[in-house]
Amino acid sequence: MDSLIGLVNRLQRACTALGDYGGESANALPTLWESLPSVVVLGGQSSGKSSVLESIVGRDFLPRGSGIVTRRPLVLQLHKTESEDGASAQEYAEFMHAPRKRFTDYAAVRKEIEDETARVTGPGRNVSPVPIHLSIYSPNVVNLTLMDLPGLTKNAVDGQPESIVTEIEAMVRSYVEKPNSIILAISPANQDIATSDAIKMAREVDPTGERTWGVLTKLDLMDKGTNALDVLEGRSYRLQHPWIGVVNRSQQDINKNTDMMSARRREREFFSSSPEYSHLSSRMGSEYLAKQLSKYLEQVIKSRIPGIQSLINSSIDNLESELDTLGRPIAGDAGAQLYSILELCRAFDHVFKSHLDGGRTGGERVYQTFDQKLPAALKRLPFDKHLSMQNVRKIVAEADGYQPHLIAPEQGYRRLIESALVLLRGPAEAVVDEVHFVLRDLIRQSINETVELKRFPTLQAEIAAAATRALEAFRDDSKKLATRLVDMEASYLTVEFFRNLPVQAAAPEPEVKGTTARVKNALGIDRYTDNSLRTIGSNVSAYINMVCDNLKNSIPKAVAHCQVREAKRSLLDGFYTNVGGRDSKELGRLLDEDPTLMSRRKAAGQRLDLLKRARDEIDAVGWGK
Ligand code: GDP
Ligand code: MG
Repeated sequence: MDSLIGLVNRLQRACTALGDYGGESANALPTLWESLPSVVVLGGQSSGKSSVLESIVGRDFLPRGSGIVTRRPLVLQLHKTESEDGASAQEYAEFMHAPRKRFTDYAAVRKEIEDETARVTGPGRNVSPVPIHLSIYSPNVVNLTLMDLPGLTKNAVDGQPESIVTEIEAMVRSYVEKPNSIILAISPANQDIATSDAIKMAREVDPTGERTWGVLTKLDLMDKGTNALDVLEGRSYRLQHPWIGVVNRSQQDINKNTDMMSARRREREFFSSSPEYSHLSSRMGSEYLAKQLSKYLEQVIKSRIPGIQSLINSSIDNLESELDTLGRPIAGDAGAQLYSILELCRAFDHVFKSHLDGGRTGGERVYQTFDQKLPAALKRLPFDKHLSMQNVRKIVAEADGYQPHLIAPEQGYRRLIESALVLLRGPAEAVVDEVHFVLRDLIRQSINETVELKRFPTLQAEIAAAATRALEAFRDDSKKLATRLVDMEASYLTVEFFRNLPVQAAAPEPEVKGTTARVKNALGIDRYTDNSLRTIGSNVSAYINMVCDNLKNSIPKAVAHCQVREAKRSLLDGFYTNVGGRDSKELGRLLDEDPTLMSRRKAAGQRLDLLKRARDEIDAVGWGK
């Protein structure tokens, strides 16, 4: 049975070592602390809380003074020791924050509590919910874990901020309202029980009184002729556990350094010799209180263990799956880092490709550019204006110079066509740019959709930058090729087209073709008549239309070849070469994770370790077997 309290002691210490002391806010990690039963001391300032604790321990070790002395919870774990040969073992105290340092001098323990309080609460006189753990190993104690809390108070003193009153109340409440805490409600007998701070709060958090133990202190200080039998016999305020009265050392005893052992003896005498209380004397006093609490705590622990075990198991499952989503930490050597980086790049590349190849949106935007935007842009070109009669006349006349053309205005045709083809460069370049923007968007989108990358904002940014740089190079290539396709059209005209031209000038005879038509054509046209100019204009327009049809096909091929295919094939090639040359430190920087995520993983990992350890500890005790 002893081992059950020992088990909870170990679990509580592990909790504090790993930052689990309950009271965490939303999205917090599962807490083991809150499920562990413990005895919490509750009472108003100067009601005698510290004195009760000290007489349970049988030692004088808690800080004293006026004002709010206890400003952090003190978890006091009492371990009963026995030496091998049965002789009484050495007695010592140990703090969890200073392991392996054994205190045998209780004045030093008190000093350490004061220093450790200040260390966390700072130089001001604030309160903190982070507990101090003190273990006392002694043959004179019972196995018990007790928690001393700051006293409930009405006024701040000593320059303590006013807010301290509500802060303490909130902190104390957070401890006593947990269904697993056993409340040791301390009330002084020389004060009306109806005004007891301890009973007031205990009643709020434990209305049925099933986990509240009423302790009445200062019985020796009651006015002559009055007694506390109404309280002690449960008539004033009924609790499910019987009230226990105690007599602690008075301030004078403390000043005189009366030792705890003689104080206990005097307490026994007080009850046995008192005419009012002698019939209760076997159920009164600090020693009795300590034994009862220890027994009760064991019983509670035993009943809670199955619940604790199932809580631990489900918390372990939850944390493990959370850690899976957060991703495991990456090893520190360059090989593992490089491997991880390449894996992450591949994951990104996969998402990006599935945008282009279908499965995700994006690929169809490239096709739209080819299928709709390019033809529309070509259509919008101002060929009408370029081939107006006036402009045709001007260009043909300039090309002829002093010598009018004899058969057909060869030079005029060329100049008209060449200057029209220049206009096609605009749409060609626009397609290239448009596809570039689509691809850039897809990179951004793919970066966001690559869940694995979310952990690594630096790497994310570098991949995005490298991919965008690669796209820019593809765009430059593509632009060169697309404008070259346009320029090629200008460097060699399709002779065939002109050979096959129908006669249009003089004649509404579109059926007449071939040599006859050409001759007729040539002979039939007068220089610079409106008719002939109109014919020239419409011939050039037809030729340009044919070129546009060609380009509608060939520009998408060029763009797909230089931009889309390259993006699929070698988007991150430059990045791979670059990363390959970096050392472990630089790679580590790339794998710098989002700090909030890193700390969450760390915290979750620690909590997981704690829970696993707790599970093993509980299994090892083999409770109830
Ligand atoms: P806390 O503020 O609740 O921790 O109260 P303390 O334990 O520090 O006690 C406050 C004062 O009351 C101290 O001077 C104690 O000596 C005194 N005191 C506590 N309990 C008793 C008691 O049962 N009898 C007498 N005579 N004095 C007590
Ligand atoms: Mg105190």
